[in-house]
Amino acid sequence: MAIATVNPATGETLKTFEPHNDGEIEERLFRAQRAFREHRLTDFAQRSALMQRAADLLEEDQESIARTMTTEMGKPLVAARAEAAKCVKAMRWYAEHAEAQLADEHPAPSDVQDSGATRAFVRYRPLGPVLAVMPWNFPLWQVVRFAAPALMAGNTGLLKHASNVPQTALYLEELFLRAGFPEGAFQTLLVGSGAVADLLRDERVVAATLTGSEPAGRSVASIAGDEIKKTVLELGGSDPFLVLPSADLDKAVRTAVTARVQNNGQSCIAAKRFIVHADVYDEFTARFVERMSALKVGDPMEEDTDIGPLSSAQGRSDLEELVDDATRRGATAQCGGGRPLHLPDGWFYEPTVLTGVTEGMRIHREEAFGPVASVYRVDGLDEAIELANDTSFGLSSNAWTRDSEEQVRLTRDLEAGGIFFNGMTASHPGLPFGGVKRSGYGRELAGHGIREFCNATTVWFG
Ligand code: NDP
Repeated sequence: MAIATVNPATGETLKTFEPHNDGEIEERLFRAQRAFREHRLTDFAQRSALMQRAADLLEEDQESIARTMTTEMGKPLVAARAEAAKCVKAMRWYAEHAEAQLADEHPAPSDVQDSGATRAFVRYRPLGPVLAVMPWNFPLWQVVRFAAPALMAGNTGLLKHASNVPQTALYLEELFLRAGFPEGAFQTLLVGSGAVADLLRDERVVAATLTGSEPAGRSVASIAGDEIKKTVLELGGSDPFLVLPSADLDKAVRTAVTARVQNNGQSCIAAKRFIVHADVYDEFTARFVERMSALKVGDPMEEDTDIGPLSSAQGRSDLEELVDDATRRGATAQCGGGRPLHLPDGWFYEPTVLTGVTEGMRIHREEAFGPVASVYRVDGLDEAIELANDTSFGLSSNAWTRDSEEQVRLTRDLEAGGIFFNGMTASHPGLPFGGVKRSGYGRELAGHGIREFCNATTVWFG
């Protein structure tokens, strides 16, 4: 895949970039290690001041970087601005909380004594340069939620961003440099996915994090495993959205639409499978279809656009294949189901609601990365849970019920890294984020995220 900015709303190639050659990659690896030697010796107050400065700069740049993101991957401008604001918040959050999250831990005095020590504690020390392989769907946020904790912990970062968001990738490198982080503390490698294996095998790269597809995750994890290097993987999802009889149906319908079409439907934590109790199925489905049909698809730069184009021609044809397979096998598109005729250029797809999805259809098993919802009808809680868990993914889940016994059951039984009751899944710097099953492993954000790339060192005194 060429490293280029191609506007998904028009299909026009706006700017292409030469990938870094071997010498340029070597230079960046050298700098990452050199910067680590310096950066690891700074204290939290120094790192915090730099991170606050980076947050201030990003805040000033909000409008321009939002326009860059929209141009590169097609999310509505309004959403791009919100993404930049969320990054500012996360940077400030880690600037304020990293020191407490990485404070020395003191085991119980009885355990210290029992181990034969006069004193013992655990110290979280940084690891070194970490490689981040990142996707285009939240081109700023996916990177910042890695970079803010990594830099606050004293690590350095090497970003291999998706090939279709090079300008956002270069902006991020420049942002941390302008904020005063040492040269090499955070760098962008303009390389294709073919360069990742050698980077993972380089001894200066000590660990890796990847957000993206299952094949990319499998490849990175297996090479890193061969090198005995730690990885965190955040892969796809096909999150269930359960609607049970006690749900506030009005709110559930409105939230269901947002949860499905946020980011033009290209979010790992978007709700994709709507599992609705028979008692409320007809009403929920009718109102959901009505709202999905009313969404405005169009130019993502316009303030009132709800859904922009998909990020690539490939992304759209993947989605088309999933929907066509389902309808060919008997599913019904209650709305949408194709390309909007009034938008012949660009990679647009209509908001689509499918009913009658069954096990033999690809969409039942695979992630629909676009504004396509599958609505299922179930007769009770057991069936709802069984269907919710009948997937290889386990990122997050949503459940609409005001019945506390049902909430207890679902908290026990839903196989996912998150369970959001009466709301939709959203990440927050203070809440851990990540999945189980084929959605990956490890956690980002909160204290869990910052400690993933630390050496939890036992310090023992005889
Ligand atoms: P990819 O997983 O292919 O891309 C994500 C990142 O991984 C990019 O930087 C990409 O580089 C890199 N990459 C791809 N293959 C490899 C590899 N074998 N080894 C190392 N790095 C690799 O996602 P796509 O953009 O192709 O999207 C495909 C599907 O992945 C989507 O339809 C969706 O299902 C899922 N996805 C999930 C995301 C999430 O948030 N969890 C985000 C994006 C996609 P390059 O761009 O140079 O190919």
